[in-house]
Amino acid sequence: MKEKISIYNTLSRKKEIFEPLRPPHVGMYVCGPTVYGDPHLGHARPAITFDLVFRYLLHLGYKVRYVRNITDVGHLENDADSGEDKIARKARLEELEPMEVVQYYTNRYHQAMHLLNVLDPSIEPHASGHIIEQMSMIRKIIDAGYAYEAGGSVYFDVERYNRDHPYGILSGRKLEELMTATRELEGQEEKKNSFDFALWKKAAPEHIMRWPSEWSNGFPGWHMECSAMGAKYLGDTFDIHGGGMDLLFPHHESEIAQSVAANGKMPVRYWMHNNMITINGQKMGKSLGNAVSLSEFFSGNHPLLKQAYSPMTIRFFILQAHYRSTLDFSNEALQAAEKGFERLMAAAGTLEKLRAGQAKGETADVTALRKNCYEAMSDDFNSPVLIAHLFDAVRIINSAKDGKIQLDEKELGALKSLFNDFVKDVLGLSEESTGKTDDSLSEKLIETLIAFRQEAKMNKDFAMADEIRTRLSELGIQLKDSRDGVEWSVE
Ligand code: ZN
Repeated sequence: MKEKISIYNTLSRKKEIFEPLRPPHVGMYVCGPTVYGDPHLGHARPAITFDLVFRYLLHLGYKVRYVRNITDVGHLENDADSGEDKIARKARLEELEPMEVVQYYTNRYHQAMHLLNVLDPSIEPHASGHIIEQMSMIRKIIDAGYAYEAGGSVYFDVERYNRDHPYGILSGRKLEELMTATRELEGQEEKKNSFDFALWKKAAPEHIMRWPSEWSNGFPGWHMECSAMGAKYLGDTFDIHGGGMDLLFPHHESEIAQSVAANGKMPVRYWMHNNMITINGQKMGKSLGNAVSLSEFFSGNHPLLKQAYSPMTIRFFILQAHYRSTLDFSNEALQAAEKGFERLMAAAGTLEKLRAGQAKGETADVTALRKNCYEAMSDDFNSPVLIAHLFDAVRIINSAKDGKIQLDEKELGALKSLFNDFVKDVLGLSEESTGKTDDSLSEKLIETLIAFRQEAKMNKDFAMADEIRTRLSELGIQLKDSRDGVEWSVE
């Protein structure tokens, strides 16, 4: 690993040179979705951010075990310790088995991720499949004296923990501030302090998802799953833990406290957080009516959208901003991203067709360009700077196409491997059929159907001929009979 990467560590609040515990192996854990609704932009950003990290580490030759979980139990409605389980609530409203809800939205999530060209993680554990691991970790925390049982539930004793270990090191929150800031909520009277969080909750009678334990019939608190599954698959201390900034507190702060309490070790060496997405400058949320799902983006079927945006446009748009910057979605910004992506892909296509000649005119210093690309990525995964360098390559390619310069075999080969490494492998961008450009296979299929229709007409099977026309029309393909044959167009 010649290339040294620097990573901004949320824990130390500075960039650090990345040194994995057991090179060339890297352990990376990213908080995955709670599967109770259609995936939206808020899901796309962390998935694409850590896909970029995963891809770059793989490109550099690291052997990465990437764990991204599925939260399918224990995430309550108000993100605290009370309220209804989000999945159970959805199941109740739609009269489904909770696992039916989980399966449906997990499938929807996978479909969207594949369209966005997000690589599958190495392991995708479900919280509900790791109840035993969570229970045994809770037992360890109780035995260490950092948790207490009350009314069949188990709570983490934050004040007790804070006497031995600093609580709030990740988020920078101080216990004294929390004490004044958190107000007592209903149903929390069994806790010693309002900021204590649940490790195990006794299930209310209407709660469907429940498991027997030494404390009660109940379910684990939301924060437990990541601590237990991270330790199970990556060890008590591992390299990278990622997630959205919204998870920093209380979720990740609680994860640290739980792991230190149970294992006496800091669980993670590098904490990484992607910034949030706003829509037209506004926070995204269901109540604001601006939570646009990914499938709505892909179809353009939402009042806020002026057109459909392809998965690669969305991916390119997210990568055009550094992961630690906020990102605002608007039609104008997306249309600009679409143009940029198309320019990059057009240059990739041109590059395949260019012929090598005698180097003529200004020589292209592709070696320097390649070095710049590594520098950008190794500087805390700076994808916008990488993309700017790639557009320098686009200018070279276009000059060669226009005959202003000529590239020799070596330069052409270097440009091709630059595109292959950084555009395809690291950024994960690829040509897609946008529906606007004619896909040659679709074209041939349409021509075949038109030929069948002509044949039906010759055989006087007008019902069949009409049927073919109607079916094509339903797909947005219009036929027009003329003297020279049949013309067709896509709406
Ligand atoms: Zn998590």
